[in-house]
Amino acid sequence: MYRKIRRHRKLLFLSALGALLLHFAAPERVPLWAGLSLLGAWLAAFGYGFAHVAMTRRTAYCCPYCGWMPYALDAWKCKGCGRRVDVFRQMGICSRCGHQHEEFMCLRCRGVAARNRWLRLS
Ligand SMILES: [Zn+2]
Ligand SMILES: [Zn+2]
Repeated sequence: MYRKIRRHRKLLFLSALGALLLHFAAPERVPLWAGLSLLGAWLAAFGYGFAHVAMTRRTAYCCPYCGWMPYALDAWKCKGCGRRVDVFRQMGICSRCGHQHEEFMCLRCRGVAARNRWLRLS
């Protein structure tokens, strides 16, 4: 769902921009609401993506260097197959190729730490 929206977001923005430009070029052919509703849809998609990233965090983990809480998203590149995976989902095991990651990289400070150092001590 999220990735689908993110992929279409750019397209939505460009079509909204195009519709608005067409409206100013030929107002009798392209109504203003067409451009505005497309723009509204883009804003909604943008807000959704932002909220999704902000809300989907792995609260049981944090970066040992800067305290950053990792995303629960496919945001890491697998060292085995090179595809985007969520390394925290199965404690470092890639869901596509089965590669076991011993270290995770922080997406904020770029620090690399072993798996068990990411566990939040509570
Ligand atoms: Zn960090
Ligand atoms: Zn993999």
